[in-house]
Amino acid sequence: MTPFRMSTRTLQRVIPSVPASDGAGVKLRRSLGASQLARLDPFLMLDEFYSDDPSDYVAGFPSHPHRGFETVTYMLDGHMQHKDSGGNTGDLGPGDVQWMTAARGLVHSEMPQQTQGRMRGFQLWLNLPAADKMKPPAYRDIPAGSIPVVAVEQGAIKVIAGRFDGTRGAVEGGATDPHYWDLHLQPGALFEAGVPADYNAFLYAYEGDANVGEVGMPLPLRAAGLLSGGDAVKIEAGRSGARVLLLAGKPIGEPVVQYGPFVMNTREEIEQAIADFQAGDMGRAQVRRIKAA
Ligand code: MN
Repeated sequence: MTPFRMSTRTLQRVIPSVPASDGAGVKLRRSLGASQLARLDPFLMLDEFYSDDPSDYVAGFPSHPHRGFETVTYMLDGHMQHKDSGGNTGDLGPGDVQWMTAARGLVHSEMPQQTQGRMRGFQLWLNLPAADKMKPPAYRDIPAGSIPVVAVEQGAIKVIAGRFDGTRGAVEGGATDPHYWDLHLQPGALFEAGVPADYNAFLYAYEGDANVGEVGMPLPLRAAGLLSGGDAVKIEAGRSGARVLLLAGKPIGEPVVQYGPFVMNTREEIEQAIADFQAGDMGRAQVRRIKAA
């Protein structure tokens, strides 16, 4: 018996990204969340926006509500500005992250602050358990410089959330204890790390090529690669290296009822969210601003 031997997760299901349009016509690619069956508890959606053509992004995401979950925006290139009903304004530049816990609801806008050049990044929707869905909303800006970067052999890991090998990420804890790593791997790099065995996890390669698990299953580019159970991940970068997001979190195990920007447990709660939004309640929310550590 070797009780401490780690079991390596395998690539179990691939959700390819499909072209989608959101906000006032921003073109993006949606993998997780492209359909109601394409989710991985507690993760609801992952959008990648990537364009050098201003007509794909300038319209932005004007004033809109959210209730019942968290949105996490990670910019790679470009400049986006957030404004919310609590009076917060936040500028997101390359490498910056905005972590917004919409909870009981708020209204915000996310608008590009550029009319040319490249706009690139990700927005993740992370669910909240019923016990947290109606808590007051909170918001935090995480500047690129305050996100820990851990050097590994032939690469570097940005620890946006959770923990990596003893390093605490910029965001930690919460009901789903999300782990959000951005892996930069050089050609041929072999990356292995522990991931809590009872957490759901997926990968999203946004550059290069990589193989996953002991048998080296190819991870398609710009697709969500859902991982099997296990307490470790193993990723081998191909000849051109790889840039890969790793997301892991504690599953919530509750029913999910989504209507656009509202994600609740029941249809009645969705109807209440719509009524509250129409009555202007979400636009009057106090939004707690959490200062980055
Ligand atoms: Mn939004």
